[in-house]
Amino acid sequence: MPRVGFVSLGCPKALVDSERILTQLRGEGYQVADRYDGADLVIVNTCGFIDAAREESLEAIGEALAENGRVIVTGCLGVHEQLIRDAHPRVLAVTGPHDYEAVMAQVHAHLPPVAAHAGEARVPVEGVRLTPRHYAYLKVSEGCNHKCSFCIIPQMRGRLASRPLPEVLEEAERLVATGVRELLVISQDTSAYGVDRRFEPVFHNGRPLQTRFQDLVAALSELGVWVRLHYVYPYPHVDQVIPQMGIGGLLPYLDVPLQHGSPRILKAMRRPAATENTLERIQRWRDTCPELTLRSTFITGFPGETDEDFEMLLEFLEAAQLDRVGCFTYSAVAGAAANALPDHVPAELAAERQEILMHAQQAISAARLRGKIGSEIEVLVDEVEPDRAIARGPGDAPEIDGQVFVETFEDLKPGDRVRVRVSGSSEHDLFAETI
Ligand code: SF4
Repeated sequence: MPRVGFVSLGCPKALVDSERILTQLRGEGYQVADRYDGADLVIVNTCGFIDAAREESLEAIGEALAENGRVIVTGCLGVHEQLIRDAHPRVLAVTGPHDYEAVMAQVHAHLPPVAAHAGEARVPVEGVRLTPRHYAYLKVSEGCNHKCSFCIIPQMRGRLASRPLPEVLEEAERLVATGVRELLVISQDTSAYGVDRRFEPVFHNGRPLQTRFQDLVAALSELGVWVRLHYVYPYPHVDQVIPQMGIGGLLPYLDVPLQHGSPRILKAMRRPAATENTLERIQRWRDTCPELTLRSTFITGFPGETDEDFEMLLEFLEAAQLDRVGCFTYSAVAGAAANALPDHVPAELAAERQEILMHAQQAISAARLRGKIGSEIEVLVDEVEPDRAIARGPGDAPEIDGQVFVETFEDLKPGDRVRVRVSGSSEHDLFAETI
C-alpha cells in the first residue's frame, strides 16, 4: 500500500485542510506513515501568514527533504512557489491553500494509488481528524472579502466562499454522531457567513433555512453539543445570536479579533467594523448575556502607531474588560499593503508596548476569573489524571485560553461534561470541585 507522510503546520483553518487531505488519502487507499523513513513521499501543509511562520514552513520542508527526499508542498506558503523553489529546488510539487484536488493530483502523479486498495481503506465516518476525539473544528467558509492592510490572506485564500449550509450541518451532525462534544466554528470571518451566497434559502432535514450566520448558529446550537464561535466581527447582526447564548449548545463565548483601540490605527489597518462603536456593542452584549466571555487579539507597533494611539489602546482595554487577550507585535508580511505605510515603529518599541499591554491585561483577566469563584459552571473534560481532571469551561477554547483543574474522585473520562463549583483562580485558569 503506498504510504504518505504528513506534516501539518499553521492555524486551525490549515488543520481542517490537513484533515480533508488525509481523509481523501485514506479514502483512496493510501496509508498515512508516522515516520519520514516509512513514507513513499511526504506532504507538508505550510503556513505563510507571518515571517516567523514562513521560516518554520521552509525549515519543515527542508527537514522532510533531508529525511525523506520526496516532498509535495501545499497550504498558504504555496502561493509563493518561487520562494519555496529558490530555497528548496528539489520539492516535487507546490500547490496552494485549500486546493485539495491539486494536492491529490500531485500525489497521484508522483505516487499512483494501487487500484485494488482504493475505497477499501477504512476511513472513519467523521473523516480523519487531528484533534482529540471530543472536539472538532468546523470550517464554514474559505477566504475573506476584507482588505486589512497587514494581511495577505485574501490574496492567498481568495474572496469569501461560504460552504453550502446543508453541507456544513451534515458535517456537524456526522461529527456529533461520532462522539464530538464541542464544535469550534472557524473561518476568516464567521460573521460574514453566507454573504457571498446572498443568504440563499435552503432546506435541511425538511426545514427551511437561510444561508446566513444567524441560521447557521441556531441550527448548530440544536445539536446537543457545545458550539463555540471564533473570528466573529462586531457587526449589528451578531447582536441577534447573543440572547441564544447559554441556551442549547451555544456557548456564551465570542472570539472577536479587534486588533486595536485607536480609530486612526483601525482605519489605517482597514479593519472590518472599524467604524462601529465597539465598546457600546460589548456593553449591550454583556447586558443581554452577563456570563459572556470575550476573547480578542491586538497588534502593537502597527506603522504610524504613536504613544497617543497606544494609550488609546490601553484605555480601550481598560474600558472593554475583555476576558482573554492575545497580543502580537506588528510584523511586515511580504505583499501586505501596510508595508508601504510611513512611520514604521521600531521592533523594540513594539515589543515594549506588547509587554505593557499584556501586563495591564493580565490584571483584568485575573480579576475577571476571580469573579467566578463560588459560581457553578459546566466543564468539558479534556484529560484525566489520578486525582484530578483537566477540563475547560464555556470561557476556555482549547489551546488558546485557560483550563479548569477539577479536583474529583468521580470516574471521569475525556469528553464528559460535568458541573463543578469554582473554588479558586489564577491569571489564566480556574480551580474547581465536582458538585
Ligand atoms: S478579516 Fe482582515 S485579517 Fe482577517 S483574513 Fe480578512 S483581511 Fe485578513
